[in-house]
Amino acid sequence: MSSVVIHGHTFKTKISSSEIQKAVAEVAKLINKDLKDKKPLFLAVLNGSFMFAADLMKKVNIECEISFVKVASYEGTSSTGKIKQLIGLNEDIKGRTVVIVEDIVDTGNTIENVWDQLKALGVADIKIATLLFKPNAYTKTVPIEYAAIVIPNDFIVGYGLDYKGLGRNLEDIYVLDYENDKK
Ligand code: 5GP
Ligand code: MG
Repeated sequence: MSSVVIHGHTFKTKISSSEIQKAVAEVAKLINKDLKDKKPLFLAVLNGSFMFAADLMKKVNIECEISFVKVASYEGTSSTGKIKQLIGLNEDIKGRTVVIVEDIVDTGNTIENVWDQLKALGVADIKIATLLFKPNAYTKTVPIEYAAIVIPNDFIVGYGLDYKGLGRNLEDIYVLDYENDKK
């Protein structure tokens, strides 16, 4: 067990790099079986999914494409509140099988929003592949087809995920160490 300090807070190892790789390989295996002959387009949602997307794609051995998008939040009118818009999508995705690649699904707000936008663009079949899934926080009905690792409602960092901009480069996944965190 090792620990790191980020912005003055102590985090301890929760999921090792080798456990992550094993879980990613399991997801790749399912995708290779389920989506063979579908020529899926993987859409990795930046920033958090970059490590997962890279490791997953190295293990996906079917014919496929990958592209990268961002979800940009901006203030709408007072009635619409915060609007989330998918940016960076240049492919014609009508009628295709699209796999959304996410770092983490928490409440599900983000993923539901992306799902709705892709549906509106005419995607035939949408699958979600997420590195981490917090089922106890999830409030939506969109099916989370491929969840590599299921976790409780802890705040985690590493392997692409950040704490206020830092920690994305960590190879393992860390959780806030409440006992040793005095702040
Ligand atoms: P949701 O929309 O599902 O509530 O949350 C999704 C987004 O919240 C993720 O893409 C991520 O940016 C952030 N998030 C949720 N839980 C965590 C966590 O435990 N650690 C980090 N670093 N980000 C999280
Ligand atoms: Mg994300």
